[in-house]
Amino acid sequence: MAKVRHVLGISGGKDSAALALFLKSRHPELDIEYYTSDTGRELDETYALIERLNSALGKPILRIDPIKENHTNAPSNFDHFLELYGGYLPSSMARWCTKKLKLEPFEEYIGEVPTISYVGIRGDEDREGYISKKPNVQSIFPFRENIWSEDVTKKVLANSNRDQLLNYYREILSPQELAQAEPYISKAISASFTQKQKLESLLRIGIKEYNQVVFQYLKTTDYPVGKLDHFPLVDNEEVIRLTDVFRILDESGVGAPEYYRELEYEVEIDGELKKGTYARSRSGCFFCFYQQKIEWVWLLEQHPDLFAKAMTYEQEGYTWMQEETLSELSQPERIAAIKKEHYIRTHRIQAKSQQNWQDEILAAEGVGCASCFI
Ligand code: SF4
Repeated sequence: MAKVRHVLGISGGKDSAALALFLKSRHPELDIEYYTSDTGRELDETYALIERLNSALGKPILRIDPIKENHTNAPSNFDHFLELYGGYLPSSMARWCTKKLKLEPFEEYIGEVPTISYVGIRGDEDREGYISKKPNVQSIFPFRENIWSEDVTKKVLANSNRDQLLNYYREILSPQELAQAEPYISKAISASFTQKQKLESLLRIGIKEYNQVVFQYLKTTDYPVGKLDHFPLVDNEEVIRLTDVFRILDESGVGAPEYYRELEYEVEIDGELKKGTYARSRSGCFFCFYQQKIEWVWLLEQHPDLFAKAMTYEQEGYTWMQEETLSELSQPERIAAIKKEHYIRTHRIQAKSQQNWQDEILAAEGVGCASCFI
């Protein structure tokens, strides 16, 4: 059997931490390598989570170094690349930070060995994680009903594979079950029967059965999972959602990152003093350009030293946000306006749908970078 590596990237966020704990408890037989790629500009709460996780996993979390040759003497990995980019701050349109600090170091660390990379995208999220362009790396999503990546799903369900799928299903379903399932297995994907609908139909027939079929198919390909004799995730039927992630973190004793803790703020609206709550919705650099305005206010009030540090990066004329500088955002009237907008928006949504702080996280994490925040 070819040597296949199993790796899991720890971003310092809740989902990758929960995934590491989940796999350790459900599949201790998997020899998983944990790694993290540090920007050097994370919140202390993030580093504290990684420390606690390190103890709970009982295995070191390897810090991979994104810098090949250090000739800048910059104070952090982020600053090193910032210097190489001439002080040009990253943005959602020019995300050199993710490329240089997360993706390239990951690909370098992996090398050419067939590798399975476990990614903590949850069952209640509607997004795909980063799929490496390296053919020797395959992403697996253990928290989702469909653990396979989009490229695998597309190949397995291709219309040209229908006979092959039927043959695989013949080997695992009883004649009665097969009679019920065959119309879906044999039906071609079209405008009126999309790939998503076909996938859902097959998962309804059975998650384990679908996984077994995909596993058989992968054995005919060069995908890393296909090189294994046995892949325990094939039997996985659990779907992990946001509340489960917090439960896993609590039960393990690792706990959620501190920055999720809701803190109270006061804001005057129409002459009345109101009390709202704010928190940070994700891991990543303290100055990340993906954060919401209210999170900048949170940073200013909860970590004034880090906010001041983020401001110093704007001295070169580049800014973290397009529409305003941090100096403008930090003016008292601007802070009050941001809190007012946040208070009204969150209370309006709560009144309509009984939304809670976890829903706020769900809404905020749709945007951003899976490599930094999972
Ligand atoms: S957290 Fe934000 S700023 Fe930091 S590397 Fe990721 S995308 Fe870039």
